[in-house]
Amino acid sequence: MAYDPENIFAKILRGQIPCRKVYEDDHVLAFHDINPQAPVHVLIIPKGAYSSLQDFGANASVDEIAFFFRAVSKIAADLNLVEPGYRTLSNAGLNAGQEVPHFHLHLFGGRPLGPMLARP
Ligand code: 5GP
Repeated sequence: MAYDPENIFAKILRGQIPCRKVYEDDHVLAFHDINPQAPVHVLIIPKGAYSSLQDFGANASVDEIAFFFRAVSKIAADLNLVEPGYRTLSNAGLNAGQEVPHFHLHLFGGRPLGPMLARP
């Protein structure tokens, strides 16, 4: 998937669209999902232009990948999700129903989250 700089998360990164920010550093931004599916539903995105997890894992630098996952753990800890537990999920491509073509990790918590996938 070629990166589309007009996607909604690119606009959030440029400050053209507001978000409810949870965390930011030089490499990563995290903000509340506009349509939460759990008491805690945060989206964690790299600042680099990667269209999906596939693109990020294949093409991001080792530093970008390391900074990203360090931030995921910090955000989970800051939100007090470590002891009760949490779930992360990334939709990549059509079969997963990815809507926004900028790599993002969903971070869910705040209640028991049930089965990993919806039953067909
Ligand atoms: P995907 O289906 O691509 O994995 O998830 C995209 C997520 O982005 C959805 O959970 C959706 O609610 C969220 N989303 C879409 N547009 C916006 C927006 O403008 N602001 C925020 N905060 N979340 C959004």
